[in-house]
Amino acid sequence: MEKSIGLTFTIVGFTVTLLGAALAATCTPTSTGFCNPTPFSGVGVAAAFMGGALFLVGLILVLKKEAGFFRTASPGPPGAPTVVCQTCGKPLAWIPTANRWFCSKCDEYR
Ligand SMILES: [Zn+2]
Repeated sequence: MEKSIGLTFTIVGFTVTLLGAALAATCTPTSTGFCNPTPFSGVGVAAAFMGGALFLVGLILVLKKEAGFFRTASPGPPGAPTVVCQTCGKPLAWIPTANRWFCSKCDEYR
């Protein structure tokens, strides 16, 4: 669930950034050869920044989720006793980035 949200953020953020950049690049050619920014340019810049932020948040969400999946086989920090999930009994994986134990079966931090 959390993964699809992150993925949605990433895709929407990327799209908004592209649209914002396209809007920001729009201008009105003048007789002097200069390009006058249209009122859309400011909106485009704001949209591009917001899209970029959304993209980063989505990316972090996806990466955090992936890290949880890929590190389920991790034995944990050296010297630490094996910790099992109190709900399902499956050994928990230590997630250094989150500084918490993660149960891949329950899909939850412990
Ligand atoms: Zn569990």
